[in-house]
Amino acid sequence: MRAREDHETRNGGWERLQARLSMADFVGGRLLVGLDFDGTLARIVDRPHLAALAAQTRRLLVRLSRRSDTKVAILSGRQLDDLKRRVAVSGIFYSGNHGLEIEGPDIRWTHPRAGGVDRSLWRGLKSDLAEFPGAFIEHKGLGAAVHYRAARRVSFRRLKERIQQRMAGLGERFRLLSGKKTFDLRPNLRWDKGHALETIRRALPGVWMAVFIGDDVTDEEAFRTIGPKALTVRIGRVKASSATYIIPHRRLVDSVLEKIAGRSGKEARH
Ligand SMILES: [Mg+2]
Repeated sequence: MRAREDHETRNGGWERLQARLSMADFVGGRLLVGLDFDGTLARIVDRPHLAALAAQTRRLLVRLSRRSDTKVAILSGRQLDDLKRRVAVSGIFYSGNHGLEIEGPDIRWTHPRAGGVDRSLWRGLKSDLAEFPGAFIEHKGLGAAVHYRAARRVSFRRLKERIQQRMAGLGERFRLLSGKKTFDLRPNLRWDKGHALETIRRALPGVWMAVFIGDDVTDEEAFRTIGPKALTVRIGRVKASSATYIIPHRRLVDSVLEKIAGRSGKEARH
């Protein structure tokens, strides 16, 4: 009997990923390297405004950005301006609000059907959170995020119910996603970081292979969207993923970037 070919149950680990990164098509090919920010490039912290990129990681991104055969895209749930400020590398692509906004060389785009969080919804959510000490809400323009990593002694089930009640009054405008100690309110569109990465890839002249590395359950959508033609990597101690590879820890991301930055194709500058 043939072995099952369901890649969700047959993820490669760190060893197999390293072998993949050494294969000829990868070493000699043109790569669009998509990276999540929090939990992938930067350590997750209690307060999202304290998240920062390590100097070593920024240097690697700069090295990658200088190769003519490599493009970098940072794709995050954060708002675009916040993301750009935190990464602060020029000449690369940025996508905020889970892919709904894209900015980079020759592209500036916002999803035309993304509505945004208006004042009355914002006020309502803020008042809902008053009884959950430590939880707070972040306005992201096109969406919002409720963060509860720093909240102690609160019922997360009740917190979620409260937000769901608030959203029930809005019809189908938003959907609620659970991430790492966050609830994300996103416009109810079939659109994720994978769609944004594909939009960037198609805008590039010639043939580019996509890579995407992410750490959160919300990144699983993107792995499915870009599919098995791309090289996808999930970070974390998870048993299965829609990504092709699973690596156990974020610290290995620098090693992946190092390998991509040092591959033997010509490292021509722009
Ligand atoms: Mg993340």
